[in-house]
Amino acid sequence: MSRIAYVNGQYVQHSEAAVHIEDRGYQFADGVYEVCEVWNNQIVDMPRHLDRLGRSLSELSIDWPMSRPAVEFVLRQVVRRNKVRNGLVYIQVTRGVSKRDHFFPPANVAPSIVVTARSSNPAAVNAQAEAGISVFSYPENRWPRVDIKTVALLPNVLAKQSAKERGGKEAWYVDADGNVTEGGSTNAWIVTKDGKLITRPAESGILRGITRTAILDLVEREGLSFEERPFSLEEAYDAKEAFVTAATNIAMPVVRIDDKVIGNGHPGSVATRLRELFHTATDLKVV
Ligand code: PLP
Repeated sequence: MSRIAYVNGQYVQHSEAAVHIEDRGYQFADGVYEVCEVWNNQIVDMPRHLDRLGRSLSELSIDWPMSRPAVEFVLRQVVRRNKVRNGLVYIQVTRGVSKRDHFFPPANVAPSIVVTARSSNPAAVNAQAEAGISVFSYPENRWPRVDIKTVALLPNVLAKQSAKERGGKEAWYVDADGNVTEGGSTNAWIVTKDGKLITRPAESGILRGITRTAILDLVEREGLSFEERPFSLEEAYDAKEAFVTAATNIAMPVVRIDDKVIGNGHPGSVATRLRELFHTATDLKVV
């Protein structure tokens, strides 16, 4: 089956989908994006993703490319037209196409919008969750506005590639105080030896993950012991469990950080339970 993408008002063949060479996303990484999980023909937590998209756009003074209900419609259409039952839907909005110039383009330049969707293999992701992943620490080197979900992901690309070359699946950024901020494309969590879940507050230094927010709802609902505070790499090495969260992998157990085995080297019970219960704490919109 051929894939379909949405580009600036048109549904086109994915293989032929293109934006102009003077799109500011291409030239300046002047744009933002969202990735939503598609689960059982439903888009997971779409309202929260679109709230965050609106915030990212507003922080960068980029207009919505169309009304929010129209964006919702397109997201659903792209999922449906690609027959995605389980997978991801991606939306990217940039400041539009204009002659290359650092200054913002004239007001009549419309933002660009691209939406794509693709199927995933839930069995493969679940198999990874049953084995757990390795992460490698990496010095925090990103700009301070990581709360905005911009397409400027070069530091994340380099950190994740470095982890991959050492046999890992994720990089954990460590700031100048020795605290873990987050992963290259995930939020970071640990469970202490006395069973307390810890994750860093989202006020600074991290992206406020939508999966993180849904997990926090779940943690409250299940009455789990929890504290939102920074934690150090040393504390993570010594944790009973560690895991990462993102729309792409829900809660993914971490069984090794650098050369340290975490807990008993197997996925922890808290991460596994949160993963199992995850969709009971999310907003699900049928496509
Ligand atoms: N942190 C970073 C840097 C990310 O890129 C992502 C997802 O792409 C996350 C955290 C997790 O966010 P979410 O749960 O909304 O997918």
